[in-house]
Amino acid sequence: MKRIVVLTGAGISSESGIPTFRGEGGLWRTYRAEDLATPQAFRKDPKLVWEWYDWRRGICKNAEPNAGHLALARLEASGCEFTLITQNVDGLHARAGSRNVVELHGSIWRGFCVDCGKQIPLDVTPLEGIPPVCGCGGLIRPAVLWFGEMYDRGLLERAYGAMNSAGLVLVVGTSGAVTVPVDLARTAGQLGARIVEFNVEESGVTGFADEWIRGPSGSTLPAFVDRLLAEKEA
Ligand code: NAD
Repeated sequence: MKRIVVLTGAGISSESGIPTFRGEGGLWRTYRAEDLATPQAFRKDPKLVWEWYDWRRGICKNAEPNAGHLALARLEASGCEFTLITQNVDGLHARAGSRNVVELHGSIWRGFCVDCGKQIPLDVTPLEGIPPVCGCGGLIRPAVLWFGEMYDRGLLERAYGAMNSAGLVLVVGTSGAVTVPVDLARTAGQLGARIVEFNVEESGVTGFADEWIRGPSGSTLPAFVDRLLAEKEA
């Protein structure tokens, strides 16, 4: 089987009950994600930003991986060359059993100190104190990529490295509003990979995808993976 690379966005987790940024339920109190997920918002009001994150962490903790996440773990377990690049920060791919995962936008289950840079696992929610504070006295922020921030170079290299040698790319539940993920998929397409998109609506990827499988990924992905694995057996 060709090397498979999967790129996922918030849409794959929507059937687990985790709201996407741009869909229904994307607002918290009266704030949009773009107003809170920024270094400026954190400098201005770290408590507010952490309250939002702890609300999201609570939703993610109570959510379960859905049939889409599980289908991707099944595909990887079949032994093909496989890389999963996700924009999601919810940790559901790992909980579903995926192993080779590039968390391009970080994870809400980790933080780091804005002063000393120490990485800190934050797996308990609700947090005991908001905002959390490092042993050195500095504020801890979520280890996620915020709007306007630079990507981690090592993660980008892994992601482009996988795309450069991909034969098949599955793009699942991503709007294409963020430039880098779209560019990753486009690059693979230009190098000859087949791009298959899974989305309930048209996105920034649809225009250059070879195929668009329209519908909720909790149903469309398992059916696609079943077909792929049956072809492999044949
Ligand atoms: P987005 O909110 O911009 O877009 C979501 C996409 O998913 C849309 O194109 C929508 O049509 C599609 N979609 C919704 N339900 C679907 C379903 N059941 N099946 C298939 N497709 C479905 O999300 P994005 O493109 O990932 O970019 C926004 C940023 O938001 C990313 O950086 C991501 O890290 C972050 N985010 C992450 C989570 C999470 O970790 N679960 C949740 C919200 C936002």
